[in-house]
Amino acid sequence: MNTVRKDILRQLKRVVIKVGSGVISTAEGLDAVMVAQLADDICDLCERGIEVVLVSSGAVAAGRNSLGIEGRPKTIPQKQAAAAIGQPRIMRAYKGVFERRKRVAAQVLLTRDDLSNRRRYLNAHNTLETLLEYGVTPIVNENDTVVVEEIRFGDNDNLSAQVASLMEADLLLILSDVDGFYDGDPSCDKDAKFLPLIERVTPEVMAMAGSSRGTLGTGGMQTKLQAAQKAGLAGIPTLIVNGRAPGILRRVVEGQEVGSLFLASTSKLKARKRWIALSLQPGGKILLDEGAVRAVVDSGKSLLPTGIVAVEGEFERGDAVHICDRNGAPFAIGVANYNDVELGQIKGHRCAEIEQILGYQYRDEAVYRNDLVLICDTVEEIDA
Ligand code: GLU
Repeated sequence: MNTVRKDILRQLKRVVIKVGSGVISTAEGLDAVMVAQLADDICDLCERGIEVVLVSSGAVAAGRNSLGIEGRPKTIPQKQAAAAIGQPRIMRAYKGVFERRKRVAAQVLLTRDDLSNRRRYLNAHNTLETLLEYGVTPIVNENDTVVVEEIRFGDNDNLSAQVASLMEADLLLILSDVDGFYDGDPSCDKDAKFLPLIERVTPEVMAMAGSSRGTLGTGGMQTKLQAAQKAGLAGIPTLIVNGRAPGILRRVVEGQEVGSLFLASTSKLKARKRWIALSLQPGGKILLDEGAVRAVVDSGKSLLPTGIVAVEGEFERGDAVHICDRNGAPFAIGVANYNDVELGQIKGHRCAEIEQILGYQYRDEAVYRNDLVLICDTVEEIDA
């Protein structure tokens, strides 16, 4: 087995699987056999201890026949109406199999707004984390019936990349109706060469994708490459495989050379630090004693409540804060695990006392090391 693939699969704990309409539907509507096979294969993955978030298309394709529409619905209201009919049909089809396998699946419908607004982003993240924690498989789709143009993802390839990044997945697995990525269009160019490994999604690679579109889905290869690029920037590799091939999920996790693998352009940790440094606007301040400043700056430690001398400003758990020395001079940005009031109560105390003081405890650290970036670390240094 190719070693890059082997490394990625060895560390596979959490995967976001995206399935396109072209895989789970036919011109008549939902392909119940394919949905059942996919759901069964996902249950097998869960039983191997792999956490799966499924991003499933197919709502429009599963609903449009009831409106008497042939081919792809043209107007947005038609698509929305078809999706409103089709979405419960898809869920019913998946849930039937999950229940038979004594597992639980949950529906999560998202819009782009949910992932660009910080608080909604955290809510979506927390909900999905909680579902996974309880062994439930989230089945995500765009909330087609309510989105207006400006807040649409429009295609589930891009949505799946966002979900992979939201959940810090180890792999984005795109189940398509083709075997992977070719340097031309294999349906009309017999010399088109199959590419098993793509190190970077360059403009040249993008150009190879052309503008092919499936008849049932929204994307085509272009949106898959956009998804691979987005996931790659978040430190997540993408594998595009043929979702109709029998046993494909098992073959992927067992490391068989199937599909086209797109490597990530950075590590997940670097991507996270970049996001903290560039995208978050720190609200409040946490002031530390000298020992804690040294522990964070020189020894690369997490920030514990015991080293906090003061908390300034208002912030929620999950907000970015400036981490400062005793005089209020900031030297780092981090994501707080407790809000300002909670930190005010536990400052100066040992971790073992948190639960007694607050009546609950999220975690030991006030700011976890991987959620913290030193201000002197420029983006180039994070990337180095
Ligand atoms: N959300 C749409 C659906 O469920 C699909 C979008 C896509 O196929 O990319 O039908």
